[in-house]
Amino acid sequence: MNLDWSDEETAFAAEMRDILAHALTPELRAGAEGATSVYPDHHVSMDWQARLHAEGLAAPHWLPEHGGRDWTPAQYYLYARERARAGAPSVSPMGIHMVAHVIAAFGTDEQRAYFLPRILTGEVFFCQGYSEPGSGSDLASLQMSAVPDGDDFLLNGSKIWTTHASEANWIFCLVRTSKHERPQQGITFLLVPMDQPGVTVRPLTMISGEQIQAEVFFDDARSARSNVIGEVDRGWTVAKYLLEFERGGSAHAPALAMRVDSLARQAGETMAGDQVFAQKLARARIRVDILEMIELKLLSGAGQGESVGVMASMLKIMSTELAQHITELACEAAGPAGLAFQPHAGMPGAEVPVHVVPADGYVTGEPWQAIAPLRYFNERAGSIYAGSNEIQRNILAKAVLGL
Ligand SMILES: Cc1cc2nc3c(=O)[nH]c(=O)nc-3n(C[C@H](O)[C@H](O)[C@H](O)COP(=O)(O)OP(=O)(O)OC[C@H]3O[C@@H](n4cnc5c(N)ncnc54)[C@H](O)[C@@H]3O)c2cc1C
Repeated sequence: MNLDWSDEETAFAAEMRDILAHALTPELRAGAEGATSVYPDHHVSMDWQARLHAEGLAAPHWLPEHGGRDWTPAQYYLYARERARAGAPSVSPMGIHMVAHVIAAFGTDEQRAYFLPRILTGEVFFCQGYSEPGSGSDLASLQMSAVPDGDDFLLNGSKIWTTHASEANWIFCLVRTSKHERPQQGITFLLVPMDQPGVTVRPLTMISGEQIQAEVFFDDARSARSNVIGEVDRGWTVAKYLLEFERGGSAHAPALAMRVDSLARQAGETMAGDQVFAQKLARARIRVDILEMIELKLLSGAGQGESVGVMASMLKIMSTELAQHITELACEAAGPAGLAFQPHAGMPGAEVPVHVVPADGYVTGEPWQAIAPLRYFNERAGSIYAGSNEIQRNILAKAVLGL
């Protein structure tokens, strides 16, 4: 394994740095800096996606014929690193990073021609309808039904924890089209337009006070049969293919390194001279470096055609636990200035505020101190979504340890 960047790769990174510096506005940087979860505000994310699209960089990991770039794995990594270093916001992953791959691999020519360009421009904005009440880790037990009705499916049931459902105009759903002994059989992967009378979105207020997730109800809603991806009743294979992209395939270390480094700068005043805290920060930074080494090793393998496979589970555990730890350190450094923003700690029994930015005078510290507890609360979800970390450990135990 050679971990040195070649001259071409170094030049490539410099080129990306220039493009990003040109495309990023102060508002976008501020939007990323102030993001309280892994997602910035919707308008920030969409504005950034439009600017990246103008540079041909909204989805470089797609196949070139669909608007992607023919890059090496190392170039993707360097691009991710430069985006993190530039302080760029993230884009919503459900369309560009998840369902687009499924449409490209399993869709018809018509589906590819309709959806892929519109996902790139943001005209079609997807959310993910996998989980249901009672069907999370045990996803194959899902119950939402799709019954053929002329050229359509008639849809009934509900989804839960649906990120960005309030902003989305399409949802990709796993629906039950028939019942078999094996629950994985009889599931279909279906794209459903959200803007119709039978679809109701009810936002969920999370412990941070924010409403990023929602419940989605389907009461005799409809979707055309032509919106099935792959074959009816065989959606489980399609669903699993998408999960590979949800859990792995991206570089986490560059963004985590940025977070530790900016915390070190921010905490400079409040924690100056605190040796114990300095050691904790150093340990976190070392964990980031270890993660980066593993990501680079996998990249090096991917460059030679090796698949990430179950290592995606290991990276998911490592990156989310590290991200959670960094938010714990940020809360420690924020001290009492962050407390005012913890609705339950600061004002027991009080109403959970739904606005991220408080009224003037509400917070006495710096913005990063106010945001620290919100990030802490939001980051708790990291070890739950995209398949909980316990489930990832089960996968590793089975596939790697043979247990
Ligand atoms: C912030 C957030 C965003 C999300 N966004 C989306 C989204 O956009 N779309 C979507 O479809 N879903 C989304 N989810 C749902 C997420 O995928 C589920 O929460 C997750 O799969 C866990 O399912 P569950 O909540 O039903 O918990 P359960 O499956 O009921 O699990 C409860 C606990 O039991 C543990 N457990 C369960 N089974 C096992 C086992 N076999 N071995 C060991 N431990 C086990 C779990 O690890 C967990 O700790 C989101 C969740 C969160 C928190």
